[in-house]
Amino acid sequence: SSDRVINFGAGPSALPEDVLLEAGSGLLNFQNTGIGIAEISHRSKEFSAYLASVESEIRQQLDVPPTHHILFLQGGGTAQFSAVVLNMLARHKLLHPDIPDADRTLDYVITGSWSKAAAAEAVRLANGATVNIAVDARTLSADGKSFDRIPPHNTYKFSADPALIYYCENETVSGTQFSSDAQSPTSFPFDLLPTNKLLPLVADYSSSFMSRPIPRLADHAIIYAGAQKNLGPAGLTIAIVRQDCIVDVDAAAKLGATPVPIGLAYKPFVDQKSMPNTPSVFAIYVTGLVLQRNKKLGGLKYYEEVNGRKQQKVYTVVQEGAEKGILRPFVQPGSGSWMNIVFEVIGEGAEKRFLEGAEARGLKGLKGHRSVGGIRVSLYNAITEEQTDKLVEYIREFIAQEK
Ligand code: PMP
Repeated sequence: SSDRVINFGAGPSALPEDVLLEAGSGLLNFQNTGIGIAEISHRSKEFSAYLASVESEIRQQLDVPPTHHILFLQGGGTAQFSAVVLNMLARHKLLHPDIPDADRTLDYVITGSWSKAAAAEAVRLANGATVNIAVDARTLSADGKSFDRIPPHNTYKFSADPALIYYCENETVSGTQFSSDAQSPTSFPFDLLPTNKLLPLVADYSSSFMSRPIPRLADHAIIYAGAQKNLGPAGLTIAIVRQDCIVDVDAAAKLGATPVPIGLAYKPFVDQKSMPNTPSVFAIYVTGLVLQRNKKLGGLKYYEEVNGRKQQKVYTVVQEGAEKGILRPFVQPGSGSWMNIVFEVIGEGAEKRFLEGAEARGLKGLKGHRSVGGIRVSLYNAITEEQTDKLVEYIREFIAQEK
């Protein structure tokens, strides 16, 4: 409707308007039950069937193999920072009970503030294990403290038999993302990992989930994402967990592993179909509506194409601005995110003029994260190509005006 602006915010972020309208009627009456979706029992046959259909949509659209479970959790990416450490250390303990805890390692690839936060949580929960920083992208930047690139493969140092290998596929704050092209130097270095065993590979896909296919999905132990960027409202976290990582954490605790809080253990969620407790019913509902809409549009293939064009248009205009000395991209070429594009507006008061001009055209949510500053354009699935064109047109006008 006409009173809605274009929301380029980083999350929670835009949702498709037709989905919101449908969700409004579902709030009053879910599937002709006469009960609203926020009021109905999660154990009702209607909701159980709905949850099963959401799971099956994710499985089909993302091509998730039968080796992997799809879980509907709460607590956001932040709870997963803890959950992945506790569950994977428990798994390692059960696999190798005789290794001293001091000899267990957790490998972290640090490419931005979210993987940095995840590694800090691993240090808190390590219980004697060593957190090995496989690479820290900041050490490669010109000033030694900026997350402005994806490291080249020859800079990673993985340990021999880590309990987990962690990376964040898309860094929402700095706007760096691994390339999905295996040949690219900025792809994730799968080539450095063993091919003959079940990899303990854990990926945070919070801000790129369902925006394009996931490279080597089947080789991952755990992939997780909060719903609140590409899929639905906050409150739902989706985890894709390989069968061998669904471990009996109580058996591991008996051997000395850290006890795992029940809400963070994956096994009860598998055993009870994501319902050991009340799930985030409304967020799951809206996510299901978004997935049905995705399917009609052509699924991930559609989004990969549209999102590819959207980001290219924005990077192109930022480059034009850079050539004229008006804009400065934050990220090195080849490392830029499709979802979050970060740049500076150069000159006294220029950023303020940029944001005010944008605001006047109904282009909102463009102010960069407080830790990085500048401008951040988030181009999640619900942002259309036409909306992206409006922003690009504005940036082009702004550059002409400033010059
Ligand atoms: N990882 C990434 C990549 C994120 O963007 C965010 C949140 N923006 C988080 C983790 C933390 O997620 P949450 O706020 O859902 O805990």
